[in-house]
Amino acid sequence: MGRRAARRSRRGGIRLHGVSKTYGTGEAAVHALTDIDLDIPPGELVAILGASGSGKTTMLNIIGGIESADEGSISVAGQDISTKHPAQLGAFRRDHVGFVFQFFNLIPSLTARENVEVIVELTGRGDRRRVAGLLAAVGLSDRADHFPAELSGGQQQRVSIARALATDPDLLLADEPTGALDVATGREVLELLQHTSRAGRGVVMVTHNEVVAEIADRVIRMRDGTVTAEDTNANPVDAATLRW
Ligand code: ADP
Ligand code: MG
Repeated sequence: MGRRAARRSRRGGIRLHGVSKTYGTGEAAVHALTDIDLDIPPGELVAILGASGSGKTTMLNIIGGIESADEGSISVAGQDISTKHPAQLGAFRRDHVGFVFQFFNLIPSLTARENVEVIVELTGRGDRRRVAGLLAAVGLSDRADHFPAELSGGQQQRVSIARALATDPDLLLADEPTGALDVATGREVLELLQHTSRAGRGVVMVTHNEVVAEIADRVIRMRDGTVTAEDTNANPVDAATLRW
């Protein structure tokens, strides 16, 4: 492990203690998360696995500082984020976290290269000169000047991974990253996530697919807003060999 990777690994851990989140009030209240405890060491590839509505996205968004919890303490990448104000949470996201979404969320009027560059410009993090290298790393050098509509779903997701890595985050968070993809292109995306983790960065991926979760070092199972099991996987499956 290089020094950079070691630095990241020390900082990528996730600790949740007594975390709860309710949407709405009274009869309409939905307990999305109830008293969650988690302690995830730095640098792991983590899968959050559960049925639709079990609280996976809420958990990921709380870890990434997109949403705040009602109760509990949350430490991510060495930062206590449960006590941060909205502006401080924005700075935390910018400095520590990269996000990948099911439907890519690329800006349609910008090329692949510009979609990555704009994040470097907006955040003031990363380096524009690294953008070509990031696109090469996700296998898209020859598509850099294409617009999202000219790219396949798998290619768009790979652009979004390059974009998420452009700020050099401690932690990459991916919500159903293969949910909109066929098996072959989904596998390419999972290979990239596994590679990202093996390079020393923390990766947390939400999925409802048991097979996809097999690539993870740790699988957190959720049901009805609670963690029902947390298993470490001594022999994660190589993403390149996955079939589902
Ligand atoms: P998952 O990602 O596992 O499908 P979510 O975390 O999105 O689950 O949702 C957990 C529960 O919280 C669900 O019952 C969902 O309907 C509810 N929920 C999620 N977001 C909101 C919201 N913004 N307002 C009201 N209810 C919500
Ligand atoms: Mg979800």
